Order: sequence, then C-alpha cells, then structure tokens
Amino acid sequence: MTHQSREIHLAQRPVGVPAPEDFALVETEVPEPADGEILVRNHWMSVDPAMRGRMDDRPSYAEPFQIGQPLHGGAVGEVIASRSDRHAVGDLVLHGLGWRDLALLPGKRAAPVDASVAPEQAFLGVLGMPGLTAYAGLVRVAKVQEGDVVFVSAAAGAVGSAVGQMARQLGASRVIGSAGGPEKARHVVEDLGFDACIDYKAGRVRKQLKEHAPDGIDVYFDNVGGEHLEVAIGALRMRGRIAICGMISQYNATEPPAGPRNLVRLIQIRGTIQGLLVLDHGDLRDEFIDRVGAWIRDGVLRYDETVVEGLEHAPDALRDLLAGKNTGKMLVHVAG
Ligand code: NDP
Repeated sequence: MTHQSREIHLAQRPVGVPAPEDFALVETEVPEPADGEILVRNHWMSVDPAMRGRMDDRPSYAEPFQIGQPLHGGAVGEVIASRSDRHAVGDLVLHGLGWRDLALLPGKRAAPVDASVAPEQAFLGVLGMPGLTAYAGLVRVAKVQEGDVVFVSAAAGAVGSAVGQMARQLGASRVIGSAGGPEKARHVVEDLGFDACIDYKAGRVRKQLKEHAPDGIDVYFDNVGGEHLEVAIGALRMRGRIAICGMISQYNATEPPAGPRNLVRLIQIRGTIQGLLVLDHGDLRDEFIDRVGAWIRDGVLRYDETVVEGLEHAPDALRDLLAGKNTGKMLVHVAG
C-alpha cells in the first residue's frame, strides 16, 4: 500500500531573493514503513533563514538542497504507521523531513515531543533549535555575565526574541534590541520586556544605539551582520563579546559585502568575536529544556508565532521570513 503525499521541491537555484518559480509542488506516493521506519503526518514545519543558504550550491556546514529533490528541515507530526520500537502510532515526534505532508524515516531519526510542556509547534521554536541557539549563544559563546549590557539584532524574530528575554533571566542589567519597523520595536519593548529597541529602518543604527546604550555594550548577539555588526564592534566595552549567529542581511546578496571596518577596536578593548553553530550544543538540550520550560511556565519568557496555512504556501513563508514579515517563529501549519 502507498500513501498520497505532496512535497515542495527545489525547481531551480535562486538568484537573489527566491522567486515562486524556484519551488515546485509535487504529488508523490509514499510506501509503508520498512523495518525500523516510521511514517509521520507532518502537522507543522519550521521555516528558517538558513534554508535560503541551502538553496545555493555552496559548501557550508549543511549540504545544499538538490534541484528536483524535496527541501527539508525541522517538522513536528504524528506517527501514522510504525515498524520501529521507538515510536508508536499516535506519538508526536520531531524530525528533519519538513516541506512535505508525509515523512518516511528511520525511527531513530525522530525525537519524542512532550506536548504537556508546551504546544507541539513550540518544539520548532522556543523549545527547539532557535531557542537552543539563543541559550547556547548566550551561555557558551557570549558568556553573558551578571550586569552585562546586551544588544541583539532581529530582536522580534525567533532567536532574537528569546535572546533578549533569556539574557535578562541570566543577569543582564540592560537588554537592547533592534528590529525593522515601529510595530516590531514596540512589541519588543512592551510585550517582550526589553529596555529599548532600535527601529533600524527609521535611522542610523549607530546614533540610535548610542542613545540607548551611551556607555556601550558588553555583549552583541548578531543575527544580521552588516551595519549592525560594525556599530556593535564600535560600541563594545572592555572585554566585550560578540556571538556571530547569523547574517541575514546578506543571505540574498549576490556580491560579498564589505567587512566591518573597525576590527582594530578589538585590540583596544581585548574583545572577542566568535561564531556560533547550534549543532555543536546538543549536549545542552536537557538543561535547556528544564530552564526554558520553567521560564515559560513562570511567565518570564514569552514566544510568538507567525503561521502560514498550507504546505502549498511554504515557499511564500520562506520569502516572507527573509522580507521580515514574521514576528516570532515562522511556521507552516501543514495538517492536524
Ligand atoms: P527570525 O525569526 O529572526 O526571522 C528573520 C528576521 O530577520 C526577519 O523577521 C527580519 O526582521 C530580519 N531581517 C531580514 N532581513 C534583514 C536585514 N537586511 N537586516 C536586518 N534584519 C533583517 O529568524 P530566526 O530567528 O530563525 O534566525 C535569526 C538569525 O539566526 C538568522 O540569521 C539565522 O540564520 C540565524 N540562526 C543561526 C543559527 C546558528 O546555529 N548559527 C541557528 C538558527 C538561526 P526585521 O523585520 O526586524 O528586519
């Protein structure tokens, strides 16, 4: 017996901003699970900025998507057939085969989801990869200390919104965000409790950061690169730390950008810039789920979602994410 499914394939590699014709919606038949496998009906799929990078044929930490093949990425769904002793029919699982209705995979490649902690889709956001990125970036890479002034870009997004709120719980004395547009800046301050938020579209980052952090910053959590990074280097105080998490301002660029022009400042202040990759920090997962689960339960960590309905609209969701149309985690609701 086979099951009818749909998948989103990479039709061609984008140049600049991905276009609708770079994707194809393909009908397909999925067989019954073989020994050790499970068949999952996806409920939710994650939409991540890094998916843009994987549409290019460029060496990176993750393999590029292949033309004519389905895209993939984080998803949560329900096991509908199982020949694995790890997961029973009806279980909710987290796995890496999003961008399709039905996912057939080895049971050992799926993790159980405990929906009593939070709704299942939170395991793609605050309790999943973006949340762990924020936590590991603060604790291990930026090594946030009691009293630090912390600055984070893309502050209304999945990672950035978690960074600011977690930094506060980890002892930061002042948390400043940057986001695009007045509504997002308002949300970051009033709903997420940051001390201040720059609207980087409304004026120069340097001038605005100076207003909110006149004595400089100790930590910059970089999600965007470009002007933000250069300004943050200039604002770093003695022994300041920068965690390089993402550079979304450059993901659609067709030319490499100019680097920060002020790296000499790192000598003066003995500053550190370090890259962060969430895949290196899986060992923090249990501690992370315990602490972040408690912060959510205690009401000190809020998370938001932007939901696009229907697998067929997943390409629009990726385009919208890159255009900043999301607040909080960008998700596609596939079924369930
Ligand atoms: P977000 O939810 O933050 O969504 C992306 C946001 O980026 C948009 O909403 C938009 O917000 C902002 N943005 C888009 N273009 C620009 C631009 N030109 N300048 C400034 N901001 C821009 O996504 P995630 O939370 O999933 O990811 C945030 C960053 O973290 C990304 O760079 C991503 O690649 C990185 N990341 C890195 C990981 C790692 O292991 N290193 C793991 C996970 C994510 P706005 O409207 O405010 O512009």
